[in-house]
Amino acid sequence: MPEALEHASELPDLTPPWLSSRLREWITVPGHKGHAYLVMSEDAEEAALFARGLAVQQLCHDIQDGMACEHCQSCKAFLQGTHGDLLSLQAHEGKTAIGIDQVREATKFLQQTALYGSAKVLLVRDADQMTLAAANSLLKILEEPPGNSLVLLSSAEAWRLPPTVRSRCQLLRLPRVDKAVALDWLASQVQVKAEDAEHLLDMARGRVVSARLMADADSLAAQESLVASFPLLSHQPSGPPASWSGVELSMLLSEILVWIESQVRGVGGDRFRDHSQSWLLLHRCVAELFSRVKQGATPGKEIVIAELFRLCRSRDHAAFAEIARRFLTSLGRDGVAG
Ligand SMILES: [Zn+2]
Repeated sequence: MPEALEHASELPDLTPPWLSSRLREWITVPGHKGHAYLVMSEDAEEAALFARGLAVQQLCHDIQDGMACEHCQSCKAFLQGTHGDLLSLQAHEGKTAIGIDQVREATKFLQQTALYGSAKVLLVRDADQMTLAAANSLLKILEEPPGNSLVLLSSAEAWRLPPTVRSRCQLLRLPRVDKAVALDWLASQVQVKAEDAEHLLDMARGRVVSARLMADADSLAAQESLVASFPLLSHQPSGPPASWSGVELSMLLSEILVWIESQVRGVGGDRFRDHSQSWLLLHRCVAELFSRVKQGATPGKEIVIAELFRLCRSRDHAAFAEIARRFLTSLGRDGVAG
């Protein structure tokens, strides 16, 4: 059974107007539709949302005004997350990689007959999270797509995908939306004042669909307390801040990197040489760890948090270069770049 779509029921009202118009375009432009698309956006949530929009367009039996009707048997099943012709792949909860087993399962799924008669659709959310083995397995599907199949990949970091996979997909790049338009839409969606919408958008670093989803979830509060914890690290008496365990590891790492980058920018003039070096070294350590996690390493979260905390706290320490060197060695990287 396909994994249920988490946000499927939010689809109709969540789709911003700039995406609706592109969805309409996609279904109404005549001519051959490809078997595989890669949807790219700076915002992973926006890319995933658009890919889901393409899926429902493809599966709908009664397109109206260029959009899925939301009422036919197929649309209803889609919105309930029970559509038998749709399989949605993403990293399993607590994991940061899409494994080969998942892609193999998808291959079998695409080879089956379409239950609703139109097509079999495979969605791969954050496709850049596929392991190399998984991507190679997907490549076989892309090279010889089973009859009536449509593969929709979405990614905010498409450059991480093997070129062989990218080149077999039609690329759909979603443009960055104008900030004023984004703010208007956000304010209308979450019904907040203009300045609150701006704060939301800032917290999501300009990624408007992500900002919209953050407003629903507890994730805004979680992210705020996370960001607030960094400047206090040197005063933290014992263990890591509680807020670090409350978010996904990848979010923790990316927020730490953003914080470090802001610190590097803040170090000016004569102080630059001395102070920036330890920040840059810290950045390298965290970035290496992040890249390992993205490549599918699945270290225990508690251990990583404890190590990270120790690392960040010791940045001012005289022995930081040595501590950082040991950290990098433990990741399989040797030495410390000068
Ligand atoms: Zn429909």
